[in-house]
Amino acid sequence: MKVAVTGGAGFIGSHLTDYLLKAGYEVHILDNFSSGHYYHDHPNVIVHEVDIRSERAQAIIAEEKPEFVFHLAAQADVTRSINNPCEDADININGTINILEGCRKAKVKKIIFSSTSAVYGNLQKATIDEQDHTAPISYYGLSKLSAEKYIQLYQELYGLDFTILRYGNVYGPRQTAKGEGGVIAVFMDRIKEGSCLKIHGDGKQTRDFVFVEDVVDANIAAMKNDRNDIFHVSTNKPTSIIQLAEILLELHPDSLETMHVTSRTGDIKHSCLLNGKCCEQLGWMPKYSISEGLKRTYHYYNS
Ligand code: NAD
Repeated sequence: MKVAVTGGAGFIGSHLTDYLLKAGYEVHILDNFSSGHYYHDHPNVIVHEVDIRSERAQAIIAEEKPEFVFHLAAQADVTRSINNPCEDADININGTINILEGCRKAKVKKIIFSSTSAVYGNLQKATIDEQDHTAPISYYGLSKLSAEKYIQLYQELYGLDFTILRYGNVYGPRQTAKGEGGVIAVFMDRIKEGSCLKIHGDGKQTRDFVFVEDVVDANIAAMKNDRNDIFHVSTNKPTSIIQLAEILLELHPDSLETMHVTSRTGDIKHSCLLNGKCCEQLGWMPKYSISEGLKRTYHYYNS
């Protein structure tokens, strides 16, 4: 079976591509390599170095006619979205519309979209479910939410099926210090350099950290689900930045120092996503605890 992965050269997309190739799919990667890398050298992978906003990207999907399109390519950096909202909207909204047009023309069976907890903004709630009010506080959150709305409207107007997966903070091997959820990758870089871990604000801000292999499993589970719906891909467990640092201190044999610096604009204070709907309806469960996932990530960066 033929599938397309936009952003297949990126952190999450490359792991998803690994899985799909191992499972025997023909995988078309559409990526402009703005933050991605060449990870794949496999007879069943076809890499199209292309911008998702281009006519060529739309034509590739329209002509190749993949059954499923996993749409991950994005501008995924919150700070960059604040500094350059036009570029962020262009990639995340116009780029998505362009991919949707390709899907519509190709009569793609389903688009599976990587979305984010950033669509909720700073909700004053300990836990969030998919019905909660969306109120992004960054242009990135807003552009991803807009992309979701376009995907839903394409379903209503053209019957293009979708699954929207809103991720917590994804982490794991190959993540770079840029982009969303990057704190773990930043810490890994600093450990390698032997420098101290910088914690923004008081470090009590929490995130729902989900390991990249669990995110891949959710994308695969979404292929089999016939509902057009939104699901959280998360662990239900908040972890503070201070807790992260403590786990890393245990893993790292040498001493590690931490230092507090000013908090960042657009940063959400707490984010913990309930994943019950995804578990029930997609038959998915996260397999990795934060300790196990961090251990694997630590060993990847230090091997
Ligand atoms: P990433 O930056 O590693 O991957 C994005 C990929 O998209 C890169 O390979 C990049 O080269 C490509 N890309 C960017 N702009 C492009 C364009 N205009 N045309 C073609 N390709 C382009 O990011 P990631 O962390 O792997 O994120 C993947 C998806 O998951 C994104 O949609 C992101 O919004 C979403 N997401 C990520 C997280 C996280 O914690 N990493 C959390 C929530 C949602």
